[in-house]
This record gives sequence, C-alpha cells and structure tokens, in this order.
Amino acid sequence: MSNISNISNIFIKTENLCFSYDNDGEEKVPAIKNASIEIEAGSYVAVLGHNGSGKSTLAKLLNMILLPTSGKIYINGRDITDPEMSEDDMFEVRRQIGMVFQNPDNQLVATVVEEDVAFGPENLGVPPEVIRERVAEALETVGMTAYARHAPHRLSGGQKQRVAIAGIIAMRPECIIFDESTAMLDPVGRKEVLQTIGRLNREAGITVLNITHYMDEAVLADRVIVINDGEIYMDGTPVEVFSQVDKLREAGLEVPQSTELLFRLNALGYEFAPGILTTDDCVAAILAKLSRTE
Ligand code: ADP
Ligand code: MG
Repeated sequence: MSNISNISNIFIKTENLCFSYDNDGEEKVPAIKNASIEIEAGSYVAVLGHNGSGKSTLAKLLNMILLPTSGKIYINGRDITDPEMSEDDMFEVRRQIGMVFQNPDNQLVATVVEEDVAFGPENLGVPPEVIRERVAEALETVGMTAYARHAPHRLSGGQKQRVAIAGIIAMRPECIIFDESTAMLDPVGRKEVLQTIGRLNREAGITVLNITHYMDEAVLADRVIVINDGEIYMDGTPVEVFSQVDKLREAGLEVPQSTELLFRLNALGYEFAPGILTTDDCVAAILAKLSRTE
C-alpha cells in the first residue's frame, strides 16, 4: 500500500476523481468529474448539491460501493484505488466509513432493536460479549437504550434512523456519511438525528459528511462542499459559501432564509454584513441597525 504523506490528519483525500455509470452501451455520462478534495479527520462537512449532481455517487465511491473510472482515493493515507486491494481491505474501508441512507425502513433488518444494532459487528466476527457491550454503548449514544427490546417497525422515523446510526456506531467507524438521512423525517425526527450527528462528531470525534438538501443543516457544519454537475463547485466555511448567494442560485440552490432576507434588504440599499446564517444572528443584526437609526 502506498502512503500519501505524513500529514496524518487528512482522513479522506481524492485526486482527480472521475466516475461514469455504464449506460448499457449508450454514451457514458460522467457523474463525478475531476473531483479533488481533502477532508480532515474529526471534521464535520456538509455536502450540498441539487438532485442528480453526484452527491450519492461520491459517497459510494468513498466507501467502495463503486470503483472510480479514474483518479485516486486515499482513506487514512491508504490508496483504496490500488488494484492490489484485497476483499478484506475493502471490508475494512466499509467498516471505517459507515453510511446512513435516506429511508430508515430499508436499513433495519431484525425484529428487535438490539439485534438490529448487533448485526454489523456480528458480521465483522466480533465476539458476543464484546457485541453486547458495543450494542449497549451505541444505543446509549443515540438515546435509544429504553427501546432496546422494541420492534423497529413500531418506532418513529427519527427513532428508526437513530437505531440505524447505532448499528453503524457499533462497528466503530472513523467516519460516517449521512446521505440525506433526515430527508424523510418529520421536524422532530430531523432534530433528533441532527443532534445525534453533532454529538457523534463533537464527543466521539467521528468525521461526518452530511449530504443534505437543507441549508439550515449545512450551516451546522465546519465546512460546506457544493457539488454541481459532478464537479466540486464551492468549498469553504458556511459563511464563505452562503455569502455567495448568486453563485449558489446558479447551481440551483437556495440559501438559508436569514441570509436570503438580509440579501434582499441589501439589494434595497441596506448594508448588512454578508454571511449571516442563523435566525438569531439575523435578529441581532436587524436590532443593531434599528438601534443605530433611532
Ligand atoms: P445526487 O445524489 O446528487 O442526487 P447521484 O449521485 O445519485 O446524484 O447521480 C448523479 C448522476 O448519475 C445523475 O445524472 C444520475 O442520473 C446518474 N446516476 C445515478 N445512479 C445511476 C445508475 N445506477 N445508473 C446510471 N446513472 C446513474
Ligand atoms: Mg443522492
């Protein structure tokens, strides 16, 4: 295995990554074009992009569900595009990078919550007494201990998604990719899952990639990567990305409502600083301006 560098804090690195789906003999349509990104271990990254922009394809390349057409991917310094990668190496990558998908119903396989959470580590050959500990710990982390013996299909969407997350945590991943994992949830479920994601990042140090449609979710990240038609279109802090309202619109994306409001007020001649992202900051900025004009 080749080693990229001694900068060990880069957990994911891609170099000129390209992927095209095989279209049954039709002309191949590239889904990822020349994407080069570096993601630091322990960071919380939001990935934004309109439908069909290539977000899920990128996620699947990172945990080896898909193999690149060309380009390189390094996980923890290891070249996972190396043809010498064995099947065991591939399973190790999938353990290191867990994926949580959109539909919670498709991710739960057992009839009892704790069995569901045990499923991943069982497949990894973890000894039963260790599995028990890991299941208890994972359920605790997602706040679902009280439901250990419940039937998953009776749970709310947010609870199901948290059980799915527990199943991933029980495999001790270093990174979790959430592929629109809150999209099918009601507001309460979304909040539960988002709080869980935040805790996993802050308290367990898990690297998070949150692929989302919701701007208010992207604002919570340390960094926002925007994908547009398979290309890395923007990459920066939430303030850097969301202050470029026109550029986001060109990629078919909205901005957070607070940012939109102040952008429109600025168009009318007000001078609010760019990059105000949350309702609280928006209220504070407006109040500050009002008190100055009194
Ligand atoms: P996103 O997750 O951002 O909505 P995807 O990664 O799913 O985007 O899709 C990127 C592009 O690849 C789209 O044009 C989509 O139609 C195409 N695509 C996705 N999955 C397949 C597939 N299994 N076969 C062929 N084309 C696909
Ligand atoms: Mg997708």
